[in-house]
Amino acid sequence: MEKVPPICSNCETPMRLIPSGISKKTGKSYDAFYSCPNNRECGSKPISIGGKKPQGEGLLMMDELRETNKRLDSMADYLIKRFEEIEKAIMDIKR
Ligand SMILES: [Zn+2]
Repeated sequence: MEKVPPICSNCETPMRLIPSGISKKTGKSYDAFYSCPNNRECGSKPISIGGKKPQGEGLLMMDELRETNKRLDSMADYLIKRFEEIEKAIMDIKR
């Protein structure tokens, strides 16, 4: 695996690896990227390394996504059932 960070094309400083995470501003997850520590001064743009992930990790993420989808599906099923129960209860009260 490549450990040498890319060099900023504007100020020739080795760029810093920012690990993937979730943005506090938008709440969206982002992939790891390289960012120049001086980017405010030199104006260089961050380099995304999301596409360079090893295949295994990508597959693992797909599995995780599938699991999350399954969980969301069952959660939706549960909520729909609860909602129907509540609706029925309200109808019973009205009667
Ligand atoms: Zn720079």
